[in-house]
Amino acid sequence: MLSGLLQRWRQRREQRQLEQFAIPEPLWRHTLAHYPFLARRSDADQRELRRLCSLFLAAKEFHGAGGFVVTDEVAVAVAAQACLPVLRLGLSWYDGFVGIVMHEGEVIAPRETMDDDGVVHAYDEPLAGEAMEGGPLMLAWSAITPEAVDRVEGHDAVYNVVIHEFAHVIDARDGTINGSPALATREARQQWSATMEAEWTWFCDRVDAGVPTLIDPYGAEAPEEFFAVAVEAFFVAPHELLQEQPRLYQLLADFFLQDPARD
Ligand SMILES: [Zn+2]
Repeated sequence: MLSGLLQRWRQRREQRQLEQFAIPEPLWRHTLAHYPFLARRSDADQRELRRLCSLFLAAKEFHGAGGFVVTDEVAVAVAAQACLPVLRLGLSWYDGFVGIVMHEGEVIAPRETMDDDGVVHAYDEPLAGEAMEGGPLMLAWSAITPEAVDRVEGHDAVYNVVIHEFAHVIDARDGTINGSPALATREARQQWSATMEAEWTWFCDRVDAGVPTLIDPYGAEAPEEFFAVAVEAFFVAPHELLQEQPRLYQLLADFFLQDPARD
């Protein structure tokens, strides 16, 4: 009885949000045209993506930093790319945070590192995005624009900062960012770590040998970065990933419940 009421209330709330945050047709067309990996998806996927985008925009709060103005174009470009990985998993994977801080350009973060002699070195790291557990997500618009993510197929490594940072959010849902998202069974967890380790080793060997890779060489830094850049490649260039690292492609297809290279 109560659960029936709650369900109806949720449906009405969702309906209100879909109406209030409906994405106008010209803006939706504009967004798809700028990101080919969105435009290539089926009509049914695009309809679901557009629906999730409205709910995402209703649930999240965008803030412009340093005078940057978050226009509808900016918000929808972020929402559409962010919602693609959770197209089948659902938006609850992003419940852990609300704020998205948008900068015009990359943010210079002061960092420190200690060398083998115990000497601390200070340096500046330019950041195009950053995901923090429970905290706001930071993104630089200059790294998200269609020009920034443009690539020559079969030649350039994939670069997509929105999918990268939201992959970290998905990874963080079980409490740790370690390249292994929450999985239901022990068997699934074992399969995940065995496949990831083998695929990461193969990838790092290629990067070390200076061989060009589809996945961003930055993935050689750590398992959690490999997961994030692999997710970028899975969604932006699925056919190429299926060719280059088929076992990794299949692992991600099973996890995300999507098969973009074969659909
Ligand atoms: Zn990262």
